Amino acid sequence: MTTVFTGRIRPLAPAIDTLAEAMAVDEGRILAIGTDVEVSGRFPDADKVAVDGWVMPGLIEPHGHPAYSSILLSDLVVDIRPVIVPDADGVLATLRRAVADADGPVFANGWDALLQRGLPEPDLRFLDELAGTVPLVVIHNSGHSAYFNTAAALAAGIDTQTPDPAGASFGRDANGDLTGVALEEAAVERVVAPMLANAQQHLPRLLTAHLCDLASRGITTVSDLSWNPQLNSLVDALRTSGALPVRLRWYEMSRPGGTAAARGPADPLFRQVGVKTWSDGSPWIGNIATSFPYLDTQATRNLGLEPDHIGEANYTAGELLAIAEPYAAGGWQLACHAHGDRAIDATLDVYEEIITRQDLADHRFRLEHCGAMTHAQFERAAAIGVTVSLFVDHITYWGEVLVDDLFGPERGGAWADAGAAFAAGHRATFHNDGWVTPNEPFRNMAVAETRTTRNGYRMPAGTPVTREQALRAQTANAAWQLFSEHEVGELTPGLFADFIVVDRDPVTVPAAELAQTVVRATYLAGALVV
Ligand SMILES: [Zn+2]
Repeated sequence: MTTVFTGRIRPLAPAIDTLAEAMAVDEGRILAIGTDVEVSGRFPDADKVAVDGWVMPGLIEPHGHPAYSSILLSDLVVDIRPVIVPDADGVLATLRRAVADADGPVFANGWDALLQRGLPEPDLRFLDELAGTVPLVVIHNSGHSAYFNTAAALAAGIDTQTPDPAGASFGRDANGDLTGVALEEAAVERVVAPMLANAQQHLPRLLTAHLCDLASRGITTVSDLSWNPQLNSLVDALRTSGALPVRLRWYEMSRPGGTAAARGPADPLFRQVGVKTWSDGSPWIGNIATSFPYLDTQATRNLGLEPDHIGEANYTAGELLAIAEPYAAGGWQLACHAHGDRAIDATLDVYEEIITRQDLADHRFRLEHCGAMTHAQFERAAAIGVTVSLFVDHITYWGEVLVDDLFGPERGGAWADAGAAFAAGHRATFHNDGWVTPNEPFRNMAVAETRTTRNGYRMPAGTPVTREQALRAQTANAAWQLFSEHEVGELTPGLFADFIVVDRDPVTVPAAELAQTVVRATYLAGALVV
């Protein structure tokens, strides 16, 4: 049965300001789009649905972590993210309350000493004092480090004999004793393993709730950059019961010595598109690989950084090449976390070598976040077919920190330079990185345009994007980056009818108003989801 949706439709194609009145949908796909007279004339017997608001393509989150977020943002974890608990006193009070009320281990997520000013060093001694015999793990808001007490180390089976995982480490003092710090993904994973094990039984409920929340924010396709393939059967069950509210794309986490999985059928609802690797860490904890030092400020001293500190990459270029090439040889797209300009250079070197040796054409290898990426690097990446996804929402929350506390007006001010990416010819995208910032794609678009923080501070460098670039970053460009442009990203005949209804015209409203856009309804393949 054909349905014709009528309203003010922004298909965002063929031109950004194209305005349509009617869209015919059948079997989940768009049959026609145009004026009401044209479309209704072609499908006189169709059901008619008049939509109240502006229609646009469903939004695409090209770099999320829905599986992990569904646990981290659930009631199994104490929420101390700076967007929820803005100051240090609040964080410490929340942790003490959680420990006092605990009938088991306590896991908290969202520690950020740069935004929650005055937090103490979260080492083993401090957490032992705070929690005593209650196992306590505090995860940094970036996800790149976690802090644990003696009881939590015991519960996770970590002791002085535990070797450092590849590309990650446990902090140790001069005697070799653990200091209570896990640095980078593979070490953090070891510390939170008991919590993840406990979460398994709750996952059907948690994942469904989280995906529905994403859909309510206008997201119709989400990509998970740290997917656990053990969840595949759960997603299949959700789909069978009609409870999968978004399209899922996923990236397998690379492992040293890992080998590529076989490619499955091109399932339009749920499929793997690539493999994730990491080049460096997080700007907020001092381990991004830059050519320039961190500023010497009270904030960097509080992070424990020496004057003129320069972060190191997780892997040498040779190690990264050895990890990544087998996956690329197996036909998978690569996506590499890289913030610092040295990490980006090293990753581009590795990509270039793989592209040449494997003779790859349409590889769409990705660089993730791109905090300190320079004009020249955007141009080099574009020239070899490497694509970029920028974490522009860093500006919203950490803009002042980047300039005043960490990197100064030139480097910090140009952070996440989306305008430079587009100027170099990229089909760039924006993301919220799962739980790291709230899923707020309209704010991403607005902040890429204004380069202004939530406090109204305008970044002193970097290039604003146009509205067209902003809208494409979370629709058509993101679809292309996920090898899904033949399925979603625009409202065009032949593509799936994934669309949202919003309360304002996304093409013409000022940026400040775009950030406040309200999603009234979300449709996946022509069916109302929320
Ligand atoms: Zn991520």
